[in-house]
Amino acid sequence: MSLLFDEYGLPFIVVRDQEQKQRLKGVDAVKSHILAARNVANILKSSLGPKGLDKIMVNSDGEVTVTNDGATILKMMDVRHQVAKLLVELSQSQDDEVGDGTTSVVVLAGALLEQAEALLDKGIHPVRIADGFSMAAEICCRHLETISDEVEVSSERKTALVEVAMTALGSKIVSRCHRQIATIAVDAVLAGIKMADLERKDVDFELIKVEGKVGGKMEETTLVKGVVVDKGFSHPQMSKELKNAKIAILTCPFEPPKPKTKNTLSIKSVEDYEKLHNYERKTFEDMIGHVKKSGANIVCCQWGFDDEANHMLLQSSLHAIRWVGGSEMELVAIASGGRIVPRFEELTREKLGSAGIIREIQFGTTKDSMIFIESCANSRAVTIFVRGGNKMIVEEGKRSIHDALCVTRNLVKDNRIVYGGGSAEISCAIKINAEADKIATLEQYAIRVFGDALESVPIALSENSGFPAITTLANVKTLQISTNNPHLGIDCLKRGTYDMKEQRVIETLIGKQQQIMLATQVVKMILKIDDVIANEI
Ligand code: ADP
Repeated sequence: MSLLFDEYGLPFIVVRDQEQKQRLKGVDAVKSHILAARNVANILKSSLGPKGLDKIMVNSDGEVTVTNDGATILKMMDVRHQVAKLLVELSQSQDDEVGDGTTSVVVLAGALLEQAEALLDKGIHPVRIADGFSMAAEICCRHLETISDEVEVSSERKTALVEVAMTALGSKIVSRCHRQIATIAVDAVLAGIKMADLERKDVDFELIKVEGKVGGKMEETTLVKGVVVDKGFSHPQMSKELKNAKIAILTCPFEPPKPKTKNTLSIKSVEDYEKLHNYERKTFEDMIGHVKKSGANIVCCQWGFDDEANHMLLQSSLHAIRWVGGSEMELVAIASGGRIVPRFEELTREKLGSAGIIREIQFGTTKDSMIFIESCANSRAVTIFVRGGNKMIVEEGKRSIHDALCVTRNLVKDNRIVYGGGSAEISCAIKINAEADKIATLEQYAIRVFGDALESVPIALSENSGFPAITTLANVKTLQISTNNPHLGIDCLKRGTYDMKEQRVIETLIGKQQQIMLATQVVKMILKIDDVIANEI
């Protein structure tokens, strides 16, 4: 290090060590990337499966989140390393595409990288390894189709849907009442689809809202056939229940119009003041007049209104909800069959929404209240109302329900399933080993280790359940081969059978295929990076 001075005489330090530092390139770079990515994957390993552990994440504001969801853990981890960030994105894209399997996909990618490292040590070029992995992933996806089963998906027969949702919820905080919550998630998805949709294999997630309130027990989580708005009626003296509601859905405020440009209004006399006051009063009266004329008995307003307007609404026997969020306004409009109206003059009877009943419900001793809009004109909009002892549980409950909703939707899209507990992975590993022998090129090695990497899922599952991992895996694997039964996996919950078909541990085929494809893609990408050029400031 040496001290120099610039042309203004200001001192600066030259750090000579930097010159000797070398940027990692080639195989060394690949290896250091693998190390970084594996570290991230190892963190998630202990969270996999029904006996997986949760993690507490504390953000920079000291806010605490307890979760078991891979995507959430990684998102909150503040990963700095550029290659490790790829794994964060991997988990995120699995979440976006499939919604579940976010932990498994990262564990698999970590295991693939570990195997790739050993091959690099043997002197095999990263590109050959990447090619081998692609071939193996394709073999896997094809094999998964052959071991998959088809289930019937319809509103009458929802057992399979519930079972898939239950598997997704098995490792979450909600597992205590996972059958109930799985049924709620399935009912929510089925409520949102019309028969035509069932043929089109499409689910509109926008009609399903997940809302939570701290308090009560997880078992009190319910499916509301309508919309829940996290607000109370604007005036405490408005009655708490309104039947046969006709809703005016307004995006204009109950306020006298304000000029959009800056200007000053000077009031110099008492008459002027009274004129202004009367003008404001008249404006409110006109507004309320418009609402009354349309035949509405409740106003759902995106903006606020001042006390005067609030009082006048009460006097005119109108219910009102203010500060309703934009997306909630849309849901209210969809559910009630009403139109969102931007000006009072445009309010007409045809634009009103209708609901059988609107109730304000108060919770506990806190003055917290929520509004339930039920028996709506359009019964497809539903809300899952999550309860839980504290905010962390409610938030984790919401995340778990998102997973359950996603897997149910996936099954509506494609009704093929594979069995969980690592059984599908073990079966693929066996298949891959057999196929590897048939390939004469160097890729054979990569294909073979792909099988070993797949076994990391059952290994992690049995480790997390406190079993001797390798022995258990070896047992299950030999049993799969000797009985030719691809449904044998790790009996995490000690139910006395390895058969996941019997245990009803079910995952969707597209979810599993997506996991394998995505993990392979990211690993290939990491293997092909041999230099990092950063624009340091
Ligand atoms: P992810 O975020 O990847 O979904 P999870 O923690 O939900 O991770 O764990 C999913 C894994 O746990 C899957 O491999 C699934 O097959 C397995 N699993 C879930 N329930 C059971 C069970 N009852 N018995 C054995 N394995 C199970």
